[in-house]
Amino acid sequence: MKLLVPVKRVVDYNVKVRVKSDGTSVDVAGVKMSMNPFDEIAVEEAVRLKEKGVATEIVVVSCGASACQETLRTALAIGADRAILVETPSDPSFELQPLAVAKILKALIDKEQPGLVILGKQAIDDDCNQTGQMLAALADLPQATFASKVEVLEGKARVTREVDGGLETVEVTLPAVVTTDLRLNEPRYVTLPNIMKAKKKPLETVKPADLGVDVTPRIKTLKVSEPVKRGAGVKVPDVATLVDKLKNEAKVI
Ligand code: AMP
Repeated sequence: MKLLVPVKRVVDYNVKVRVKSDGTSVDVAGVKMSMNPFDEIAVEEAVRLKEKGVATEIVVVSCGASACQETLRTALAIGADRAILVETPSDPSFELQPLAVAKILKALIDKEQPGLVILGKQAIDDDCNQTGQMLAALADLPQATFASKVEVLEGKARVTREVDGGLETVEVTLPAVVTTDLRLNEPRYVTLPNIMKAKKKPLETVKPADLGVDVTPRIKTLKVSEPVKRGAGVKVPDVATLVDKLKNEAKVI
């Protein structure tokens, strides 16, 4: 079974992002970029499925500027077999939105015919949590989102999902779309020999137009702003004062 794993290049989770002074977007100039952490979990899961003999080939795909090749090479170093870059304009003002990504991935499903598509549940830059769900709808495939366990059985996948207040186990027929949650696995460290090997693995570049997809943005960002700064704290002499402040000043109890 072939697995398709979309990986997004995002601002590294350790970076404290800054909003541009004109409030149009986040400043990514000179900022460390990495693979979206949920996508790293997706690649790790795909590699584990291959190691178990369930999967035969792992194809990773990234949609974005040519710098996404670096993210794809990381996925190849984790253990993916080949990569596809769907290259979009490198102009930083160009925004690739989840619907456009879902349409690109739908076109790749038609071409590659994977048995399972494993995406991250959300990209930590836009926090959209939309692409997997829209992809499942466009491709008319069953979906199991927020997976914390994936077992592939004969023609089916049994997926444990993280839901409010507990876990839910669902079964989907394959092919299907699964999105990863944080507790699905702990991605392995990429070793130097595997980084070297990854350089030789195939990486194909296509344009959205080659797949017949129009990536014109449909959503306009009106304003981006920093979260309100936290005020300074105060020390209280005793528990009674704390309770009084919580009750009468903060009015939270
Ligand atoms: P989002 O809906 O933007 O929160 O993203 C959810 C998931 O969709 C991500 O974790 C990725 O697996 C996939 N995805 C989103 N954007 C891209 C992209 N530009 N290239 C590849 N995969 C993407």
